[in-house]
Amino acid sequence: MSTEVKAVPAPPLPGGPSLQIYLNGALVPKEQAVLSVFDHGLLYGDGVFEGIRAYNGRVFRLKEHLDRLFRSAQAIVLDIGMTQDELQTAVLQTLQANALRDAYIRLVVTRGVGDLGLDPKKCPRPTVFIIADKIALYPKECYSQGLEVNTVSTRRNSSQALNPNIKSLNYLNNILAKIEAGVSGAREAIMLSLEGYVAECTGDNIFFIKGKRLVTPPSTAGALEGITRGAVMQLSSTVGMTAEERLFTTFDLYTADEVFLTGTAAEVIPVVKIDARPIGSGTPGHQTKRLIEAFHTLTQQEGVPI
Ligand code: PMP
Repeated sequence: MSTEVKAVPAPPLPGGPSLQIYLNGALVPKEQAVLSVFDHGLLYGDGVFEGIRAYNGRVFRLKEHLDRLFRSAQAIVLDIGMTQDELQTAVLQTLQANALRDAYIRLVVTRGVGDLGLDPKKCPRPTVFIIADKIALYPKECYSQGLEVNTVSTRRNSSQALNPNIKSLNYLNNILAKIEAGVSGAREAIMLSLEGYVAECTGDNIFFIKGKRLVTPPSTAGALEGITRGAVMQLSSTVGMTAEERLFTTFDLYTADEVFLTGTAAEVIPVVKIDARPIGSGTPGHQTKRLIEAFHTLTQQEGVPI
């Protein structure tokens, strides 16, 4: 057997044929948007990111996303090297360059290129890139029929080891949970904290409804303070509910009237079965449907024009 290392052709890249990517201050075709193998984002997951949506020619809650990105960067002592206004302009330019009015935007800041040691001081400049493209996280029928999700044995990182509000490039904890969900036949995993409280899903926050109460875990349980989560909590009063953050267990989910997930990519999606237990009527709940409608209306109304 030959041990010669052969060059193999690269697999085709996702995205449209001429997708323009923002990379360190320039817009380049996706084929030229390449990073060094010495980038610490790749070597160590050392970096932070945001997933953002544009609806109908406006970027939804862009300031909130940029605020969160800068908080994440501050928490890991990462100097982004750009102001929030400059980054906002870069996001808008990326959307304009791709003539996108409805899009998913991935904004990533890594520690940058260094040596093989993990010391961040060896990385003089961060890497900043922005991908704007289409996304469909779940098929349409998941929204009309609802999702089946399962709890998994992989626990959410302790908030004392890695604060969930640092939206870092280090998603292995969530990926292990996603693999477990898939093995169990579910599309999504419910992750618990080390203490056994419900934390969140692998890329989404979780809510349950009981009567007029809308309940979601606090960040101390391991939940990211999601932008969609915040929007839904704000909307709760418009549909006659009160939102509350508190610790709870799977028992509260199993016996809830309704359960749903929230996230920038998934938006608001009903959950109809958890660990083989039908939730409520076993179909997407009435209150969840009202919140989905209210959220869709909100996304069409507000945002930074592209
Ligand atoms: N939790 C995790 C772990 C996530 O990755 C995400 C998606 N970024 C969320 C929750 C939902 O947050 P948001 O509504 O800001 O997208």
